[in-house]
Order: sequence, then structure tokens, then C-alpha cells
Amino acid sequence: MADGRLTITVLGSGTSVGVPTIGCHCAVCASTDPRDKRLRPSILVRWDGHAVLIDTGPDFRQQALAAGIERLDAVLLTHAHADHIMGLDDVRPLNFRMSGPIRVYGSVETINIIRQTFRYIFDTGPTESSVPKIETCVFGDAPIRVGDLDFEPIRLAHGHGIVHGFRFGPAAYLTDHSGIPPESMEKLHNLDVLFLDALRHRPHPTHSTVEDSLGTVAALKPRRAFFTHICHDLAHEATEATLPANVRLAYDGLVIEVDTPPLREFRVFRSLEEVPADFGPCALTIGNFDGVHIAHQSIMRRLASIANEHGWHAAALTLDPHPASVVAPGKTPRLLTGIEQRCELMRQAGLDEVLVLPFTKELAVLSPERFIHEIVTERLGARAVLVGHNFRFGRGAAGDTALLQELGQRFGFEVETCPAVHCRGTVVSSTQIRKLIAAGDVTDAWRMLERPFALEGEVVRGEGIGSRQTVPTLNLSEQTGLVPLEGVYVTRTSDLDDGRQWRSVTNVGFRPTFEGRHLTIETFLLSAFDGRAPARIRVEFLYRLRDERKFENAEALKAQIFSDVKRAEQFHRRTAEML
Ligand SMILES: [Zn+2]
Ligand SMILES: [Zn+2]
Ligand SMILES: [Zn+2]
Repeated sequence: MADGRLTITVLGSGTSVGVPTIGCHCAVCASTDPRDKRLRPSILVRWDGHAVLIDTGPDFRQQALAAGIERLDAVLLTHAHADHIMGLDDVRPLNFRMSGPIRVYGSVETINIIRQTFRYIFDTGPTESSVPKIETCVFGDAPIRVGDLDFEPIRLAHGHGIVHGFRFGPAAYLTDHSGIPPESMEKLHNLDVLFLDALRHRPHPTHSTVEDSLGTVAALKPRRAFFTHICHDLAHEATEATLPANVRLAYDGLVIEVDTPPLREFRVFRSLEEVPADFGPCALTIGNFDGVHIAHQSIMRRLASIANEHGWHAAALTLDPHPASVVAPGKTPRLLTGIEQRCELMRQAGLDEVLVLPFTKELAVLSPERFIHEIVTERLGARAVLVGHNFRFGRGAAGDTALLQELGQRFGFEVETCPAVHCRGTVVSSTQIRKLIAAGDVTDAWRMLERPFALEGEVVRGEGIGSRQTVPTLNLSEQTGLVPLEGVYVTRTSDLDDGRQWRSVTNVGFRPTFEGRHLTIETFLLSAFDGRAPARIRVEFLYRLRDERKFENAEALKAQIFSDVKRAEQFHRRTAEML
């Protein structure tokens, strides 16, 4: 970010019907205070020539004129309730000014509703009138990058539904919600500005009250909080008088400036020699981190916050190849993540640096004491070391957390051992997740990873069954890592080059017709891709449908594919968002 500054403009601070409310003559609806006039909720985030809009409610046209919007890099949708999407058609004048389509990001469920509600936008037939040129993009848990800024989706409860807020830099916007799950609270520490739903004082089944959101502020301690999605129960001036000084009611046209710390430059070192001599001081975690699962993520979040507090780097030391391949070749487990993917996930978890230490025979014979003294303290300048409860280190894995504590005292660094994390009664570990994937239990693995298990690779030409059907089929190139048990899965496929996403069904299996029994990973997209065929894809495994089976003839196979597709569509509709 060039000048390190974000500008947030509140385009609308009102509830779904707006204030004044049609037909109402209450004191707030009749008020002459301009801050009591509330359009439907939306904000505009601008920095360094970029502009991102969150939600396009029914008042979007009026709001865009007031804020002088001339172009948008992206529209992010929190959910598909009418008060957040019905102005989408009014992006057309922006299309005239911009060359490409506008990217519209939403959850699977939101984009689904957008495609139904605005069917005319997606009709491929000829039309005489102009329709918005948009490109829909589905987000999962991973941040949406716009320019040099990440928008992290934050899951929220909105009555019985799941909707999203967004964190970007030291700011977060959480409109409609009645609850914030604990794992989302974890992502909302150290905020400068926090926007929160505060409909009114009286309880509401799908919205937070002023009191609920004051509770959230007390728990998260942002520097400033602004309440939004406000109904006509709350008069601006009278309500603000009752609020703590750092909590204000948002109003239409409010502009907030946020200083963003300079964007972290994430670095990966491939050997000790690459690490600069003046590297330290750092807070360090050490481990293999295969999968970067929820227990790893919680260590890394804690590490980042300790580093932040002291002005240190947050760094990880990891080994590649996996120690087992040097110490006990042949016993090497197939891994959940390749080293590149592991580094990217560690970046997302908030680390500044990763040192990938080649695991050589020389390293393998280093005693625990020498490993800590020579590498961790002397070379990396660790002031705090955080590890998992089952951490082992040094020759023959002789070092454990007790020894690490002892060495910490001797060499002058703090040691924190992070407790085991449980998921539905099972201790989360890379080994456990590898077992689940190998057994085809991709849904439980998803819970432990906090994202679906995924395979990535190039699309290769296959002689698959799909190519003879009408469904578009993509074959994934050969995999070196772990692959789920043979069978048929509900999946989500994305184009690694441009982020397009499709619902899909994936067959993992051996083709008896091929000599040498090649494992093939064949993905059927549930909708056609407009434009060019993807060259590199990620396939995320969501749910196991059935075992792989042999069929007597093409007809029987076709019937089975039909039923798989139907079940996959049902799965996507009902549960994908809720998991
Ligand atoms: Zn709403
Ligand atoms: Zn009223
Ligand atoms: Zn809503």
C-alpha cells in the first residue's frame, strides 16, 4: 500500500427497510438530523487507486452518485438478502467506463442466489438491452486479494443462516449477524476499526442489539467501533450519548481513515545460508506442519500476536523433505501438502518468514542441544519458541518439550507449549488427517484442516468417460502427495490462473482398462465453463458419494453419473455452506 492508508466510506447505515421507514411518523423517521436518514447497508473501501464495494443494496445508485464511484475493482457480498444485493443492476454505468467485467465475490450460497435472482444477467441468448457485465467468484475461507490488500471472509451466524463479514488490514465490517462463532472471534484481534450490526435495543432473531454489540466490543477491544444496520428505534444523537467514547453510530456519508501497517513482505528461505546475518529477534515455531491444520493455525496465530507485541518477526522453521524420508526411507508418509502450498498456508496464517531447512543426514545427527543453540538461538535469534504438545527435536527425536523448556532457560528464550486441539473428540494431527483422507473421509478432514482437502495440478488429456458424455471433464496430472481413497466425491474445482470456480464431481480410481493401473483423478464440472478451458486447477474434496464400481455397459455408467450429479447438486445446495 503506497501511502499505507485506507479510506472507508459508509454508504448506508440503515436496516433492511431504511430510515425513514415508509408510512412511519415516529420521532426518528420525522427527525431533521441528517444522521437519522439511513440508506440500506453498504461500505466503500478505497486505497491507492483501488476501490472495493461491500454489498449492492437497493440504494446503490444513489450511494454511488453521492460517493463519486467511477470504477470498482470488486464487489464483495456479505449474503444474498434483498437489502444487500438488489442494486446490482446499477453497476452497468461502471461497465461503460471500465474495460473488463466487475468481479462479484460471494459464498457458494450467495452466488447461487445471485444467479437465480438476476437470471437475465447470465442468459447467454442475444439481448437488445444492456445487462451488467459481472464475473461471479465464489470465496471459501481463504482471503480475497484485491491489489495488495487481502479481504478475509469472516463467518457469522445470521439467525439460522451463515453469512460473512470481512476483515481487511486493521479494519473489519460485520453487518447482519446474530452471533460470531469462536473461530471467527479469533480472526478479529488487534483491530483499529470494527463495524458491527446493532439493529436496536429490543432483541431480534437474526440481528445483534446495541447491547450484544457492546459485548462484542468489550471482548475484542478494537480501538474504535461503529454500529450499523440501524432501525428507527435509535435516534442518532440520543443513542450516542449513552455509548462509550470509542463506540459511535455510523451514519450515511461517514468517512473513516485507517492507517495500515506496511504490508508484510512474506519471505521463504531455502537454507540457513539464505537467512540474513541480522535476522533476529524472532518468535519461532518449529515443526513439519503438514496440512497446516487448525492446531498449527492456532500456534501460528498465537506466534504472530506475540511477535506483534514485541516488534519481532513471526517465523517458522520447517523441514523438507519430511524427516522420515531421510531417517527411514520407505516409511515416508504421502503428505497432505507440498512445500509450496505449506508456505502459502503459513503466510495466510500470519507468519512473516518460513525457513525451509533441507533435512540432511548432517542435520539428522545434530543433538537436541546443538540444534537449539546453533540454529534456533545463535542463527535465528529466537526470543520465544512456540511448539505443539507432541513436539520432538534433534538426533533420534530425543528432545521433547521438557528439554526445550530447560534449553530456553539456559539460552534465554521463552517457551510455550500449545495444548492439543480436539475436533469432535479426536486430537487433531497431521497423521490423523492423513488417515482420514486415505480412508476417504474427506468431510472430517475438512473440519480438522478448516478448509477442504485439495489436489492441485495441470489438466492433462484423459480418455475419460466424461469426454464421451456432454459434461466437461478435466483430468488432473499425476500427484506426488496423498490422494483420497478411490471412489466418487462431491468436489469444488477452481481455475488456478483466474479464480473461476465450479461445482463438480470427481472420480478417483484405477482404470482396469489401462495397463499398469494408473491412478486417475477425473473431474466432471456440473456447469459448462464459459471461455477457455482451465490449464491448472485445484480440486477440493467435500464429501464422499460412493465407492468406485465397474459397470456392465455405458448405459449403466451414464445412469450412475446422472445420480451422482443429482446427489452432488443436492449436497452443494443444502450443506456446502453449513459445514
Ligand atoms: Zn441486512
Ligand atoms: Zn419510524
Ligand atoms: Zn440479512
